[in-house]
Amino acid sequence: MGEGIYISRRNFLRGRYEGRGQRVCPPGATAASLEACTGCGRCVDACPTHIIQLIADRPALDFSVAECTFCGQCAELCPEPVFTGRPQHFPHVAMIGESCLARNHTDCQACRDACPTEAIRFRPRAGGPFLPELREEACTGCGACLAVCPVAAIGLREVRGESVHV
Ligand code: SF4
Ligand code: SF4
Repeated sequence: MGEGIYISRRNFLRGRYEGRGQRVCPPGATAASLEACTGCGRCVDACPTHIIQLIADRPALDFSVAECTFCGQCAELCPEPVFTGRPQHFPHVAMIGESCLARNHTDCQACRDACPTEAIRFRPRAGGPFLPELREEACTGCGACLAVCPVAAIGLREVRGESVHV
């Protein structure tokens, strides 16, 4: 795992996409392939969970709304050579930050319940609530845990050496 770019959910909510590290491309699109995007918006209409927005006429995912199900509809309907494949994971994983309620002595396991791949487990600890642990190898980066975390403690960290956050 290399060094990654941490993108907090708070940044998504504020819509601060400007600058490096603020945009998450749909699965299969990359920073380079987005050059072919004309901003037609078909991917926005196609997304069943409504997480695609056009920012500066290019698609960007907003995980504060919901998660990506890797359905491939955006790639299916795109008329340009923007999508290079149909991966079932992103080149980022979730990252649980210090503001997590469980880490601050308040019971919460919302992220575990939302995760479709059981990538978040909770470890017992004496005298306090169970603590979340992310199994990176099981995390697809789908964003389901970001949407449900009540304190926006979960962000994303790039892995797998691909550049999709532009
Ligand atoms: S949902 Fe958020 S606050 Fe709750 S345990 Fe998970 S990371 Fe912590
Ligand atoms: S990003 Fe998706 S797969 Fe990864 S921990 Fe969160 S809910 Fe689970």
